[in-house]
Amino acid sequence: MVHAVVGAQFGDEGKGKMVDYFAVKADMVIRYQGGSNAGHTIVNEHGKFALHLVPSGIFNPSTLCVLGAGVVVNPGRLVKELETLRAANISTDGLVISERAHIVLPLHIWQDQYEEHMRSRKVGTTLQGVGPTYQDKAGRFGMQMGELLDVERFRERLQNAYHTKLQRIPGLAQFAGSFDEMWEELMTAREVLAPHITDTVPLVQEAVRTGRDVLLEGQLGIMRDVDWGVYPYVTSSNPIAGGISAGAGIPPTALTRITGITKAYTTAVGEGPFPTGLDDEVGAYLQEKGQEFGATTGRTRLCGWLDIPTLRYGAWINGYTELALMKLDVLSGLSEVKLATAYELDGQTYDLPRLAHEMERVEPTYETLPGWQEDLSGCRHFDDLPAAAQAFVRRVEALAGVPIRYISVGPDRQQTMVMEA
Ligand code: GDP
Repeated sequence: MVHAVVGAQFGDEGKGKMVDYFAVKADMVIRYQGGSNAGHTIVNEHGKFALHLVPSGIFNPSTLCVLGAGVVVNPGRLVKELETLRAANISTDGLVISERAHIVLPLHIWQDQYEEHMRSRKVGTTLQGVGPTYQDKAGRFGMQMGELLDVERFRERLQNAYHTKLQRIPGLAQFAGSFDEMWEELMTAREVLAPHITDTVPLVQEAVRTGRDVLLEGQLGIMRDVDWGVYPYVTSSNPIAGGISAGAGIPPTALTRITGITKAYTTAVGEGPFPTGLDDEVGAYLQEKGQEFGATTGRTRLCGWLDIPTLRYGAWINGYTELALMKLDVLSGLSEVKLATAYELDGQTYDLPRLAHEMERVEPTYETLPGWQEDLSGCRHFDDLPAAAQAFVRRVEALAGVPIRYISVGPDRQQTMVMEA
């Protein structure tokens, strides 16, 4: 079965926990887009890990972990991640990197810093070089991981890229390091990564054809999708399920299960519109109780009520076959809880997201439900939840139009309820 786990909001929904949960029985876990600009936090019997590039299946020794062609790889950062895992006695032999994946060069990181510095309207990039790498890929200037295997040719190509980029972007020089510095860094990483770089097509094809359990791990969420998110406050790739075919090399017809991951509330980090964001004591309560700080950047996430138009939108575009509702425990202790059911803008009602400049002005319409005080972290079955929490779950499900299959009440694998199908 080919099963995708995708973010139903702005990212940080808790995909890492669910991928780790599903990966236990997966034969293969594939990342299909993005780079080290976002991270999953995984808590399991080995400890607590912030993974940025390595698929979460790495903890299971029999799972093959694939970085697909749609991923952009910062070699130095990937090596650091592998070292952290090895230091915790986790084998990293099961990692394979598509020879087609593009390389995030130090040049791209310098360019990211320069471009964000020059923008009057910041897009809130994490300065990881991901955007510029995708720009070069689309512009056909990019370099692929497979090119690292032929050192002589690679050096020539890199020299060319270095000089061309500095010529094309005159202001870049003040942010740029030297060619030798870049070369050293890449060659050091190459030593570790070369054995992992391969043609992933036969591996993925074999797994899909023989009906193995293949898990696709999305990064970020639909609202950060370059085509369907709040452009320009988006990432440079397609985290939506539609990105899987292109980024992992899997035919769209092979995808049979799509789990949308959503928190019981909403969070967003960086710039851009966030209609249900709360700049009040409830927002602060959610942030504190939900520990809403970025895994990659440590940036504080703004919090607010669950946004149903976004869930509905994702249900259509991603085709969720089920939802996982995360962090329900964080809503405990509030006298009432709210759900944004639609947006109002200039006298019009919208039940799906709009363009970013309109999203900045929309007023959410809220439905208010009774809150609950009980600590949910020990609940293991739906019936263990207080009646108000059960009613909240049922209402989200009805409004989103997708069954909630999993409810999460804590970071641990055990703190996950499975609903009857
Ligand atoms: P991802 O990028 O979507 O994987 O999300 P992050 O890893 O950035 O954020 C999820 C955070 O919430 C992590 O620290 C998880 O350990 C934690 N977490 C996941 N599920 C739950 C839950 O149900 N309750 C609580 N309290 N924390 C959770």
